[in-house]
Amino acid sequence: MQHKKLLLLFTLLIASLQNFAQYSHADTLRGTNGMGRRWWNITKYDIVVEPNIAEQTISGTVTITFNLPADYNGQPMQIDLQEPMHIDKIRLKGFSEREQSDITMQREGNVYWINGLRNLNYIGNQIELQFSGKPIIAKNAPWDGGLIWKTDENDYAWVSVACQQKGASVWYPCKDIQSDEPDSGASMTIICPEALQGIGNGRLVNSKIEKGKRYNTWAVKNPINNYNLVFYIGKYLPIKKTYDGKNGKLDCTFWAIEGNEKKADAAYDDIFKMLQAFEKWFGAYPWYTDGYQLVESPHLGMEHQSAIAYGNKYKKGYLGRDLSGTGWGKKWDYIIVHESGHEWWGNHISTNDIADMWVHEGFTTFSEALFVEEQFGKSAGEDYTIGMRSNIMNNDPMIADYGVNKEPPGDIYYKGANLLLMIRTIINNDDKFKAMLIQMQKTFGNRTCNSIEIETFICQYAGINFMPLFQQYLYTNQIPVLHTTIKSEESVTLQITNCNDNFEIIYHVPISDTEFKTITLKANQAQEVNIKLKKSRWEQLQKKGYYLF
Ligand SMILES: [Zn+2]
Repeated sequence: MQHKKLLLLFTLLIASLQNFAQYSHADTLRGTNGMGRRWWNITKYDIVVEPNIAEQTISGTVTITFNLPADYNGQPMQIDLQEPMHIDKIRLKGFSEREQSDITMQREGNVYWINGLRNLNYIGNQIELQFSGKPIIAKNAPWDGGLIWKTDENDYAWVSVACQQKGASVWYPCKDIQSDEPDSGASMTIICPEALQGIGNGRLVNSKIEKGKRYNTWAVKNPINNYNLVFYIGKYLPIKKTYDGKNGKLDCTFWAIEGNEKKADAAYDDIFKMLQAFEKWFGAYPWYTDGYQLVESPHLGMEHQSAIAYGNKYKKGYLGRDLSGTGWGKKWDYIIVHESGHEWWGNHISTNDIADMWVHEGFTTFSEALFVEEQFGKSAGEDYTIGMRSNIMNNDPMIADYGVNKEPPGDIYYKGANLLLMIRTIINNDDKFKAMLIQMQKTFGNRTCNSIEIETFICQYAGINFMPLFQQYLYTNQIPVLHTTIKSEESVTLQITNCNDNFEIIYHVPISDTEFKTITLKANQAQEVNIKLKKSRWEQLQKKGYYLF
């Protein structure tokens, strides 16, 4: 016995060491709100960027405005910028040459440590970082990160960037963690050849042409994730429309590559249907001040706030395919609906750590089903979500390791959506469910949050303890199995196995075509329920909405 215990202890020790060894010091620097980050809070990014299209290099400056919410005792400032990009010069605005000369920077891989910052103010400090280099080129955008240097069908340069996974520090110096969004938004000045257009997030606030170069300055007034701040350069034309929405007139612009104006115009059909569906289910579009923009992109798509990358080639479905296999996914433009859904889930509500990204992708994928429901009815939306189950792998839990910038598995999309369908099924009150989603936007919008806060909120709002469900579906990869035995067509025995010991789930058992009996199924305990349904009919109705094996 003693021997066995020792062996177990040894095995556990090896397992935890292996887990530890999986991550490097660089992963921790990148993924943790560490000592070089937590003493300063970003209030604004002002970026100027000039790509050199022939050389595939970029240069520019980033001015970071920040304040000091915590006591500052001379800790170094951590600025992230990935190799091979480099910072050429730092300047603390409003400081004397003498004070500037004390500032030093030291590179540690993808991090710059800035020391010698003294006499900082509580608010409104500005550090200007000049940067340049030849950033990593994305091999398979948007799934890997980096610059995209392409040409359009008419041979005009078409340049952009996608960096959700790699991080914004792949091209500009920043605090590359989701937990600190610039409270007052960001601006970006894009310098490009006069014949092209530089498109950025939000609204165009300034534009000039000088010596054959176009300078376009864009700005968002709202907080924004680092990876959402991007530029697009190409031969663009704007298709503008106005949407009469919940907060008044919403300015919409679709920046299409020249020649695609008619297709972009036709795409407004799905855009307006999407806005109508999502404002109904989630509340007003979050960025009336910054407008709604879609920008045709040389890659499939990305949720860039107020400048969504659109690369679905004006097709229905996901490049013509239906991810649910039910047919419902082929009737609308997946990229318009999915990426716009992120304006509520991911951009307005953002998580502190990418480990919790199921909040971004699960709710957004579920929003596709709500879009389907609004067009084709509730059961179509449900079928769409259930159809997506064939994409779930269940290899790893949906929540990844914290503090190391670890990307969670693709299950956060389809399994995340099915978890939400299950929550809706259990709440069994659509008005309450909808009101909950709208209240979530109000509670968590414009700040960053953790999954556990979302989980707690859902429990409190619904008045139902969903914690065993979250623990099961988010933190393990085990899917509970529901065993059913129908006895003499009058009663059914139900039992849940393959789950956590404390697992329990509210189960609405169909007992006739119109009635159900609500029971709580606890791990491994069998329960008998009387039914008035034929076996085949009961089997049709059972599990609907529940992701149980
Ligand atoms: Zn997404």
